[in-house]
Amino acid sequence: MAKRDYYDVLGVAKNANAEEIKKAYRKLAIKYHPDKNPDDKAAEDKFKEAAEAYEVLSNPEKKQRYDQFGHAGNAAGAGGFGGGGMNMEDIFSQFGDIFGGGGSPFDSFFGGGQSGRGGRRVSRGTNLRIKVKLSLEEIAKGTEKKIKVNKQVSCSSCDGSGAKDKSSFHTCRTCGGSGAVRRVTNTILGQMQTTSTCPSCNGEGTEITAKCGTCHGEGLMRGEETISIQIPAGVSEGMQLSMSGKGNAAPRGGVPGDLIILIEEIPHETLKRDGNNIVYDLHISFADAALGSSVEVPTIDGKAKIKIEPGTQGGKILRLKGKGIPEVNSYHRGDQLIYVNIWTPKALSKEERETLEKLQDSPNFKPQPGKSEKSFFERMKEYFG
Ligand SMILES: [Zn+2]
Ligand SMILES: [Zn+2]
Repeated sequence: MAKRDYYDVLGVAKNANAEEIKKAYRKLAIKYHPDKNPDDKAAEDKFKEAAEAYEVLSNPEKKQRYDQFGHAGNAAGAGGFGGGGMNMEDIFSQFGDIFGGGGSPFDSFFGGGQSGRGGRRVSRGTNLRIKVKLSLEEIAKGTEKKIKVNKQVSCSSCDGSGAKDKSSFHTCRTCGGSGAVRRVTNTILGQMQTTSTCPSCNGEGTEITAKCGTCHGEGLMRGEETISIQIPAGVSEGMQLSMSGKGNAAPRGGVPGDLIILIEEIPHETLKRDGNNIVYDLHISFADAALGSSVEVPTIDGKAKIKIEPGTQGGKILRLKGKGIPEVNSYHRGDQLIYVNIWTPKALSKEERETLEKLQDSPNFKPQPGKSEKSFFERMKEYFG
């Protein structure tokens, strides 16, 4: 299913500021909240869609990538937003920022305090940064990279719980596992209910009486994971992609951080990249330039034969349409530009010298730049589009 534009989802303009984005999301979150729309699948989908849009547009780094690449910037393979979207835990953990204070406002908003999930504070793993080196061919076609990353994973001894064994891990007695405590105070306006993070468990909802010996209660250990990363065609040096949930694991079973992938280009031996165009420096002999010829040039898809017209001048630029790099998230493709250089021999045999000396004073060999030849300036203009 094609994803809707995040700005459309929230109903804000592309240049909306952080406050407008927040406001729009808050409105949608209240409208489609599951407590308000029980057993309504359509509302739940809208709720998740809005949360996902907000998750990206409220994060300056992710927003910038989204503005630049669209959905491709964040959907780099499994675990990105391209997959199953956000789960409810993630969404509710966002609410702290949206509505201020600890946890969901809905417990008091909708009069229901039974769910308990609103107050749970979900811990978050840190983001992990890696570099990926790509050849020009990989950049042109897009690629899948399987990369072994060293990162924090769930502790295998305690299964990430941080507890020594099952009996030393139990629901927090203070908050009953909700992670939040409610207080009712009497004010002149009547009874007010406030919610705050449970002081006993720090909002985690669980308590550990004896810590796991391997991870000392953190629930984390060093480990390796082979991650398959989908790189869209057209990326360039310095760009960053992110895969949500593929970073470091969170302490005691929270939400893992993101994996941030920094793109590096491996220079190609003969082809140079200039934006979405590829530039190739072709050297032909003086004889080929004068007589015409057919030569092979390397391209991103293998060799291509090109025709050299008789009387070709040095500095001419030939263009192979669509043989460049595709633009990320677009059907547009750059071209390959072939810059024709005439190779002047550096050493000559006696015979060659004599032949050339005979030609030196021939009238056809005198330069006669006419109106049919493009000037250097015109060629450069053509080159840079
Ligand atoms: Zn452990
Ligand atoms: Zn507690």
